[in-house]
Amino acid sequence: MLTCRQATQLLSEKQDRQLVLREQSNLQLHLLVCRSCRRYGKQIKTLSQLSKTFIKYDD
Ligand SMILES: [Zn+2]
Repeated sequence: MLTCRQATQLLSEKQDRQLVLREQSNLQLHLLVCRSCRRYGKQIKTLSQLSKTFIKYDD
């Protein structure tokens, strides 16, 4: 089982690289049982979508 620290680390790395299958399944498992990391995952996703939007504006 991942710690919250590892899970949030994976969530942020997921924005930049493809996670390997093992990391993905560990992360999914953690998110199933951990509400705060689920919330963090949502936030980071929103943030990255926002920053993509801003990058588009810069072009
Ligand atoms: Zn957690």
